[in-house]
Amino acid sequence: MLTVRGLHKSFGDNHVLRGIDLDVRRGSVTALIGPSGSGKTTLLRSLNGLAMPDAGTITAAPSPAPDGDAHGDVARPGRRDPLVLDFSRKVTKQQRFALRDRSAMVFQLHNLFPHRTVLQNVIEGPVQVRRVPRAEAVSRATALLERVGLAEKCDAYPHELSGGQQQRVGIVRALALRPELLLFDEPTSALDPELVGEVLAVMKELADEGWTMVVVTHELQFARAVADEVLFLDGGVVVERGVPERLFRDPREERTRRFLHRLL
Ligand code: ATP
Repeated sequence: MLTVRGLHKSFGDNHVLRGIDLDVRRGSVTALIGPSGSGKTTLLRSLNGLAMPDAGTITAAPSPAPDGDAHGDVARPGRRDPLVLDFSRKVTKQQRFALRDRSAMVFQLHNLFPHRTVLQNVIEGPVQVRRVPRAEAVSRATALLERVGLAEKCDAYPHELSGGQQQRVGIVRALALRPELLLFDEPTSALDPELVGEVLAVMKELADEGWTMVVVTHELQFARAVADEVLFLDGGVVVERGVPERLFRDPREERTRRFLHRLL
């Protein structure tokens, strides 16, 4: 669904991504793990056009027509042509927007608008960005909030919710855009430990439902249980990749072993 080849990105002299290859299959969960500063967030942001790589390509496969859409989205047309961004050449604004349009990101901090209610936060993207009629956006948002157990919080303001509830609203806000790809940037790392579980549970449900997800996470147990593939990044390269069972049990690279040893 998304193919990344030879991705490079520098910030000034800081060469953060040094030739990343990644294949995201439709319906799969990819976990990006690695030490702080290894480039995980930069890679994730590159996947949705928020960061602009210096070289390499990102190719997004054609998407299924609405009928074949696992999430039954009739508002979003299928896309018949692959989208190819070659960062060694010129990437247009339209191409970046087209890439961004395919995904939705859940951030480390929930990033909700503080002066808008939960419902207003959720419908903002669909109404403003995707031009979904308001009534339809409200009905979709209500159904999604119900699914994550927050139906009764529609009219609450973010500060009236716990961190875990806010982050679940953050997830609903991403889902409301009906993206093909969900990107998570350490969605639980700003939460109190007792609130982490409820957010991971929602993410596991989404994975079970067949959403395509790329997750930057320090929650290795979650990566182990939910991911189809785990990539260990260090120093801007993928040091090791594999199915979690193998990678966690029997890491082949010394750097992976040391990292896992510290955290497990
Ligand atoms: P963490 O686990 O701490 O979030 P990470 O693996 O996600 O780390 P990145 O956030 O991708 O790492 O950062 C990689 C490097 O790029 C760091 O040295 C960081 O300081 C630098 N960096 C990231 N974003 C920017 C930016 N917008 N401007 C300048 N430098 C940046």
